[in-house]
Amino acid sequence: MKNIFPDFPIFKTNPGLIYLDSAASAQKPQAVIDAEKNFYETSYANVHRGIYALSEKATELYEGSRETVRKFINAKSTKEIIFVRGATEGINLIAHSFGQQLRKDDVILLSEMEHHANIVPWQALATPSPLRGAPPAAGGAVLRWIPVTESGDLDLTNIDELLKGVKLVAVTQMSNVLGTVNDVQFLADKAHAVGAKILVDGAQSVPHMPVDVQKLNCDFLVFSGHKMLGPTGIGVVYIKQEILETMEPYQRGGNMILEVKKNSATWNGLPYKFEAGTPNIAGAIGLGAAIDYLQDVGMEKIWEHEQDLVKYGLAQFSVLKGVRVLGADATSARSAIFAFDIDGVHPHDIGSILDQQNIAVRAGHHCAQPLHEKFGLVATARASCYLYNTKEDIDVLVAGIKKVQETFT
Ligand code: PMP
Repeated sequence: MKNIFPDFPIFKTNPGLIYLDSAASAQKPQAVIDAEKNFYETSYANVHRGIYALSEKATELYEGSRETVRKFINAKSTKEIIFVRGATEGINLIAHSFGQQLRKDDVILLSEMEHHANIVPWQALATPSPLRGAPPAAGGAVLRWIPVTESGDLDLTNIDELLKGVKLVAVTQMSNVLGTVNDVQFLADKAHAVGAKILVDGAQSVPHMPVDVQKLNCDFLVFSGHKMLGPTGIGVVYIKQEILETMEPYQRGGNMILEVKKNSATWNGLPYKFEAGTPNIAGAIGLGAAIDYLQDVGMEKIWEHEQDLVKYGLAQFSVLKGVRVLGADATSARSAIFAFDIDGVHPHDIGSILDQQNIAVRAGHHCAQPLHEKFGLVATARASCYLYNTKEDIDVLVAGIKKVQETFT
């Protein structure tokens, strides 16, 4: 892989920084920062509405990014690409809009390794709200869970049983805690065989490995720009066109309409029907630049680089006494995410002591409380890598962990 380190200004402004929190958010290369800056300096206007050159230029850039996203995930049409704030908003869009098609007792199959973003929106369809009265799924959908094994894999032993009555499978392609990569292609085939749809949470996978929606044959895919070198506040929902055509709008207002009367309105075509209001134009342009950058480096190369890091990292962790890495023994493919626990040390103390050495890791439940509960933990410290991390970063982390242990003995 080419030497990408100089492309990231943060490592110049913060020399010595060991950034191991990319699963939360990634650092930005100069190309992304410049794309947003150039847009504001040279081409800024609102999109779609203006009949003047500047607005046309802004629209061209915004729609150009949509095409960049389409190609990146190999969607059939830009009509299937909706810009949202991030993976969380994407799942909320699907739960709100596709959720209206679910009926009482329809089953939504989740996994125990889901991020809260792929749990809580579904709870709204399953639990009656005291304010709203009956839940939208006409009396309550049912949540069911694919178990996670001790080693950190999905337990698919009883998948056929689990799929009974399922209308939607909603699973992560890569766990933000265990790093486990799930075989969503297999799950898509299984889901489709029982007439269910499948949503893939790509918040962690899309930044780190090649993802092709046609190959996966998923019905929905969501991801966030900020975890893949792009800006915050921009993300993507991919939805197969034939499904989108059956869905009611998510939010209502300007841009998503064709015509408005006092008491009624008709909807704009796809994907605009799902993009109410002024979108995050600069964010979408920044995301396009991030994708160009990632493709320039090569998604296969990034994945290979992280495979080297995960092998190296797990080997280094395995010789540390009193340290447990969740999902270390997973048999599935795995990304370079190390959520770990040190005997007798609170994860927040781990985070603080590492921070004193300019090593940035996250401590907490990482928005995956049910998963932590499964492992009998409240929280872990988590080091997560990306294309700019090296084996030396892992060496520094391991030395830092030893210091943490010395401090607490
Ligand atoms: N799903 C997974 C697996 C994630 O890791 C995250 C972010 N931690 C999300 C969903 C939510 O992403 P965002 O906060 O960007 O909406």
